[in-house]
Amino acid sequence: MNPFRFERAYDAPAAVAALAGAPNGAFLGGGTNLVDLMKLGVATPDVLVDVSRLPYDRIEPLPNGGVRIGAAVRNSDLAADLTIRARYPVLAQALLAGASGQLRNLATTGGNLLQRTRCVYFQDISKPCNKREPGTGCPARTGYHRNLAILGASEACIATHPSDMAVAMIALDAVVRVHGPSGERTIPLAGFHRLPGDAPQRDTVLEHGELITAIDLPPLAFATRSLYRKVRDRASYAFALVSVAAAIDVAGGEIQDVRLALGGVAHTPWRATRAEAALRGAPAMEDEFRRAADAELADAQPLRDNAFKVPLVRSVVVRTLLDLLVDDRLQVDDRLQADTRLPGEEQR
Ligand SMILES: Cc1cc2nc3c(=O)[nH]c(=O)nc-3n(C[C@H](O)[C@H](O)[C@H](O)COP(=O)(O)OP(=O)(O)OC[C@H]3O[C@@H](n4cnc5c(N)ncnc54)[C@H](O)[C@@H]3O)c2cc1C
Ligand code: SF4
Repeated sequence: MNPFRFERAYDAPAAVAALAGAPNGAFLGGGTNLVDLMKLGVATPDVLVDVSRLPYDRIEPLPNGGVRIGAAVRNSDLAADLTIRARYPVLAQALLAGASGQLRNLATTGGNLLQRTRCVYFQDISKPCNKREPGTGCPARTGYHRNLAILGASEACIATHPSDMAVAMIALDAVVRVHGPSGERTIPLAGFHRLPGDAPQRDTVLEHGELITAIDLPPLAFATRSLYRKVRDRASYAFALVSVAAAIDVAGGEIQDVRLALGGVAHTPWRATRAEAALRGAPAMEDEFRRAADAELADAQPLRDNAFKVPLVRSVVVRTLLDLLVDDRLQVDDRLQADTRLPGEEQR
């Protein structure tokens, strides 16, 4: 690991000032991704500014009926929060589907949004990779890409975003609050992560030195009936091949409103806006769910070894929406409880 200077910030202006003069510095949340990348030689910051002790460790109600989640809130605490579990169960489920109990105890909300792709070439400094070293090429295109993107990819990069939490948050219309050298700003999560285009080295629209301070969730009454379903190679401790975050509002057999987002399919958490548009006003029936999934997948560009994701997305979207039609809140609560295991228990 390269030598680096460690600093700890106790308020946002101090954290931002500490990075302003360090073009190759980085903020440190729980360190569960950044420190791994430093050990691999993928990230080589010369200054680390620890922001995990900033006073952003609370989950608070907002005057508009929404909820503000501080950037330093640990993933375990967010998943266990009673307000989140009752009002946005899809978010609690997504968090509990990710990583392990020990990792979730350390991982922060801000760091989770900014974790980097698990493309094997990105993590191996002996291999070329446009995201790690722009202009060197993308060996994943012809190499190992089973877990990579089918939507929104480019010639330069076909990586997927790995966060489960972000998929639920984008379905909930989350807004990212940022404090930077030029002051504060808010960024809708839908515009926060970037598609790769010809600059895959940039995962998000954040500028250097901008600190995430919180994520706001707007109120969404029908999110009380929401689900996160994740398909992966093994039952736990694995990233999504495909995941779906969904909430649906049905009255008289007709879909009044719906939220749908996909994980494991693109460089960003993917809001399924085409499927949502197809579903609003349609009868809440399996055929309509399948048609909506197909509308979303119309532009999919699978590669040799990830074409299985196309039918998998369709099936998981249909299954998840059908499950939401079953008006059985107990089932959802049971699933949450089954997922709230002690650290280590989920690796059985
Ligand atoms: C074995 C393993 C399995 C995993 N499985 C899953 C999984 O299945 N699903 C899943 O979603 N995740 C999974 N993860 C990833 C895990 O969720 C992330 O590593 C974690 O959420 C990152 O949070 P952190 O606070 O530790 O971030 P850090 O590692 O501290 O930071 C990550 C990035 O965010 C930046 N950063 C941190 N905080 C801020 C801030 N406030 N403002 C601006 N920038 C900031 C850092 O500079 C860095 O670039 C897994 C991780 C491991 C190691
Ligand atoms: S898919 Fe992206 S991250 Fe993976 S090798 Fe290609 S450029 Fe690098």
